[in-house]
Amino acid sequence: MKYAILGDIHANWEALCAVLADAKKQGVTHFVCLGDVVGYNASPVECLERVRELECPIVKGNHDHYCAIDEELEGFHPIAADVVDWTRKQLSDEQRHFLANLNYVNRVETFTVVHSTLDTPEMWGYVFDKLEADASFAYQTTSLCFYGHTHVPLAFEKTDRVRVGLYSKIKILLGRRYLINAGSVGQPRDGDPRAAYATFDLIKNEVELHRVPYDFRITQKKIHDAGLPNRVATRLASGR
Ligand code: ZN
Repeated sequence: MKYAILGDIHANWEALCAVLADAKKQGVTHFVCLGDVVGYNASPVECLERVRELECPIVKGNHDHYCAIDEELEGFHPIAADVVDWTRKQLSDEQRHFLANLNYVNRVETFTVVHSTLDTPEMWGYVFDKLEADASFAYQTTSLCFYGHTHVPLAFEKTDRVRVGLYSKIKILLGRRYLINAGSVGQPRDGDPRAAYATFDLIKNEVELHRVPYDFRITQKKIHDAGLPNRVATRLASGR
């Protein structure tokens, strides 16, 4: 049994297709989605419907939340807010209802998934450092938890103290806890423009990070054609 962990797809159809094709090659049998299926890029309907076809657990991201409701936007960069406004108009009432009803946290098999943090998932906090990770660990009841939101793949390990580092492959060891960011499928921000996702092999108890190149020029053209902010398109080339 091997899970693909898909985080922050952000309406990037080309990146999602590349990742799903790669997951097939990796022998993935199951999927889980860390939220923010929509927002930023120009294919929210296509991405949401494709993810729903996977019939996998999905947790709610902040963009999913704000695209699903009509409430005023809090804590959003003006560019992201512009795209939320546009996305609200693309989605059907049924699709917005679906997003509105997603859980903040899900337990899947032996692990947990959340978009932001386990301590206050509805506050959309970011886990970048050990202190933030430790606050989340206090609420983590499984040995392994995957999270998203920062768009930066990073792994925290807790024994008597918290350690942090970049990762490509991690063996999940007994008696320790792990909080692992699977990176972003549709808008990486670690300086690598390739789509990111993680796999979790439940037999080997091993997490692996994958990077998949895709033609972001097609995604950029769709962003321009939709009249969305130019910065949303240019950042895909730099992975920032
Ligand atoms: Zn996001």
